[in-house]
Amino acid sequence: AAEEGFDLEDVEGAIEAAGHGPLPVLAVVGRPNVGKSTLVNRIIGRREAVVEDRPGVTRDRVTYEAEWSGRRFKVVDTGGWEQDVLGIDASVAAQAEYAIEAADAVVFVVDAKVGATDTDEAVVRLLRKAGKPVVLCANKVDGPSGEADAAYLWSLGLGEPHPVSALHGRGTGDMLDAVLEVLPDAPEQTFGTAIGGPRRIALIGRPNVGKSSLLNKVAGEERVVVNELAGTTRDPVDELVELGGVTWKFVDTAGIRKRVHLQQGADYYASLRTAAAVEKAEVAVVLIDASENISVQDQRIVTMAVEAGRALVLAYNKWDTLDEERRYYLEREIETELGQVSWAPRVNVSARTGRHMEKLVPAIETALAGWETRVPTGRLNAFLGELVAAHPHPIRGGKQPRILFGTQAGTKPPRFVLFASGFIEAGYRRFIERRLREEFGFEGTPIHISVRVRE
Ligand code: GDP
Ligand code: GDP
Repeated sequence: AAEEGFDLEDVEGAIEAAGHGPLPVLAVVGRPNVGKSTLVNRIIGRREAVVEDRPGVTRDRVTYEAEWSGRRFKVVDTGGWEQDVLGIDASVAAQAEYAIEAADAVVFVVDAKVGATDTDEAVVRLLRKAGKPVVLCANKVDGPSGEADAAYLWSLGLGEPHPVSALHGRGTGDMLDAVLEVLPDAPEQTFGTAIGGPRRIALIGRPNVGKSSLLNKVAGEERVVVNELAGTTRDPVDELVELGGVTWKFVDTAGIRKRVHLQQGADYYASLRTAAAVEKAEVAVVLIDASENISVQDQRIVTMAVEAGRALVLAYNKWDTLDEERRYYLEREIETELGQVSWAPRVNVSARTGRHMEKLVPAIETALAGWETRVPTGRLNAFLGELVAAHPHPIRGGKQPRILFGTQAGTKPPRFVLFASGFIEAGYRRFIERRLREEFGFEGTPIHISVRVRE
């Protein structure tokens, strides 16, 4: 590294930064208007259009990446739902429950100016039941005079209230320090208790694509309700299913079977639920109704899984209903609408007839294998050397940026750091990704490539 002009510390730092696996998840919950979205904006340190969204417009983005004190994590914002759908208490409870389920730690936001309400107390009961670490945020403490209001929130029994002004940034640093103290390094959902346990599958897709039918078909009589095993009284959330002689865990299946019919807000709940399932899973099986046009909603769900860095399988359902013409147009649609995930294994199934059910497990196994692939540094650099020699980066401003060396910093999904002598253009990065896939497979997994440029 040294003779290439990078110092060792730089290289090690870059590898460490890129090498993390799935990030731990922080959920921000609380009543409407307490300042959740404002706080999330503070935490992610961007003026993303979270608060600016017009009321009544459903957002489908609920998770964001954030960094504090050099640690990275994900934030789930639950601010985007409609208050009038279920009645206020039920709405708050539902969104909090989904978010808490997927979280490794929770920031519970209370409006210190208003004090603790009955709805807040209801959320506290949910938090107790869930047993996840909680940091209490007493928001809207814009100046020293508000600190007394914050102190009243000791009464919630959640420990120290952290006085914060999400709007002005006051106290948010101290609160985030407290968050980092309780947030695990890796998502416990996926990598804590689950180590050595069954692999986790999120079966996701828009309403009516056939998720519950598929789950029933594959689970059959073998179905085991996980929470019954644990002897709890909660709604079953995860289900163990034996497929191909192996036990798999389908996460968050309560959301699949117990459909809440809502006129408004349904999309938002569905997004939150999908995001939660994806965070808990290692592999996402996105179910698509092949009998209908591939929709923006299908694309969003695929994007959610890819952005979360999960392994991906695409299952085209209702194959029994397709005539020749539809099959023709479906192939064209897949190319244009889902071309960016052409690396994902694909199965054409029918939950009704059972067609190709046996192909689901091999596809999932392929995707997980791709997700965990590690390319030895020697092989990677031999490959990069040949690639760069055969296809150099275009000359820019009289100079030719070169990839000098690279390493795979992590897996789940595979993450690469490339060290370069100058700025590497997006087109060339995409070219490298394509060639990496051709060379090493990575079927069914997103791959991350970051480039470090020599100073
Ligand atoms: P959410 O519904 O919980 O996501 O709440 P929002 O983030 O949308 O905030 C609701 C309102 O409270 C907005 O008008 C914010 O500007 C305001 N707000 C949020 N945080 C603070 C704060 O720290 N101080 C004050 N004074 N107002 C705030
Ligand atoms: P979910 O909302 O994604 O859980 O979808 P459901 O499993 O409730 O299915 C929605 C509708 O599609 C139901 O009427 C199912 O009977 C039907 N359906 C599901 N899978 C298939 C299939 O493979 N072929 C056909 N013809 N219908 C299906």
